This record gives sequence, C-alpha cells and structure tokens, in this order.
Amino acid sequence: MPLEQLGYVGGRLDRADHIRMNPDQAAQALASPGARCLVLDGLDPVTQDSHLLMEPVATDASLDDHLLLGLDDEQRPVFVRLAQEVGSNFFPSPRSRAIVTEIPADEVALYGAARSLVHWHGRHPFCSVCGSRTSPEKAGWARRCGACNAEHFPRVDPVVIMLAEHEGRVLVGRQHSWPEGFYSALAGFVEPGETIEEAVMREIKEEAGVTVHSVRYVMSQPWPFPSSLMIACIGQADDDALKLDETEIQHAFWCDAAGVRAALAGKADAPFTAPPPMAVAHHLLKHWADAQVAPPRPSA
Ligand SMILES: [Zn+2]
Repeated sequence: MPLEQLGYVGGRLDRADHIRMNPDQAAQALASPGARCLVLDGLDPVTQDSHLLMEPVATDASLDDHLLLGLDDEQRPVFVRLAQEVGSNFFPSPRSRAIVTEIPADEVALYGAARSLVHWHGRHPFCSVCGSRTSPEKAGWARRCGACNAEHFPRVDPVVIMLAEHEGRVLVGRQHSWPEGFYSALAGFVEPGETIEEAVMREIKEEAGVTVHSVRYVMSQPWPFPSSLMIACIGQADDDALKLDETEIQHAFWCDAAGVRAALAGKADAPFTAPPPMAVAHHLLKHWADAQVAPPRPSA
C-alpha cells in the first residue's frame, strides 16, 4: 500500500443504477447467494487480513435497512446495513484515518462511500418539508416521505481548497485548532449561486485579504466526513499583501517551492508541517511544487 495514496479515491464497484431503479431486481440482488454486506462498527471501518470485512447478507435482510453499494468485479452485489444510531460525529476517527495505509485504495473509497451514505440515512429519518417519517428507496440511494411524497437524495457538499500563487510562492495558512506548525491550503464551502472559481476568489479574499484571478481546477477528492467533495484549485494573486480573518486563520505565509518540497518530504527544517498524503491538500501542494522550475543541480 503506497503511503502517498490519496484517500477515498479509486472505487471499483459498478454502482449498478439499473438495479437501484428496479425494486424487484434490488430484492433479487439482496437475496442472491453471492451477496455480501460490508461490516461497519458504528461508522468506523472493520478490517480483517488487510481488507474490509464483508459478511454474507443475512437471510432475513430487507431493503428497508440495506443499501446496495454496487457490484464487484465478479458481479456480486455488495450491500451495507443502514444503522439506526449513527451519532453526529462529522470528523474522521483514528481508525478511519489508519485504514488508508492498511487496505487497498479501492476499499478505502468503498468505505468512504458507505460511511457517507449510512451517516446521511441516520441523520435524515424525517422529511425536511413536512416533518413526517421518511423511508429508504432506490436500494438506499434516496428516501421518500410517507406523508407528502417528497423525495430526498444523499447530499454532496462542494468545498473549494486552494492555493493562491504569487511570483513563485504559494499561500499556506493554519487554523487556531491545528497542531503547532501544521499549515495547509485555505478552504471553504461553495455557497449557493457561486461557481467553483467564484468560491475560490471569495474564500481567499475573506480569509487572507488576497485578490486572485485565473483560477484553475487541479483535482478533487470525496471526503466522507460527512459528505464533502474537496475541489482543489490554484489561483493567481494580484499581490502578496495579507489581511487575515483572525477568527478563522491564526497565521498564513507565502512559501517557495523549496519550502513546500521540504514540508512534503517531512524534513525537520521544513518551514511548516504539511497535510498527510491521504489529504488532497498534500497532492495540491505537490502538483504546484512539481510544476516549478527544479533547483539547479550542484556542479561536480
Ligand atoms: Zn414530507
């Protein structure tokens, strides 16, 4: 398992939308001899021999509390049971962080999708329109209100995470609650009525007082705590003057490529501690540093 792996990316299941849409096919999938159920401990992953633990689906299982995650490479259905009590913990536990280096990347992605969906179901037993009970349908990919018939879908919340770039340096910042020395890209939720580019420009202006333009998309990552989609971008800053929103950002500074490379390599004399490889911010910093002109080789 490579340590540089971005977490929760690279799922291999066929999501089998055609089965979700057909209640008879979904019931057949649940009852099929090869059907398996992903085991969770609350919202935490359970592993065995460096894989996620799967068990046969119980003979009395029902689509009322089982969600079809998809079909595996051998066309076997994979389900997860919808727990009744999921709590309100929106942050990754040590266990869910640790699996990124313990199990194959596609299984980390499978866990992320399952966790996000199970958590969404657990938090949405009631209709947001009329307050009545809702129940799962579409093999767990929606809920419907029994009173007003409103349909509710699992949510994905877009988050922009971005570097402002100015004359060979990028802006990194830290929140008050982070471990000492830890810095990352700035980030914030996309708001209704905004494009991704507009959200990047607004967030950097709000948090650091920096005006950016020419925003470009780099990569994305599902972050299932509880349902974010991290959208990593780079924008060009007009200048390097900072005016921090000190309620959100404790400190920020412009770092050159040598400093970013040292931080990503975990060097003791690096100017900051970088996010781990499971986080998209690590790969965004690497993407930027790799594109900078390499330092000259020392002469022989
Ligand atoms: Zn309703």
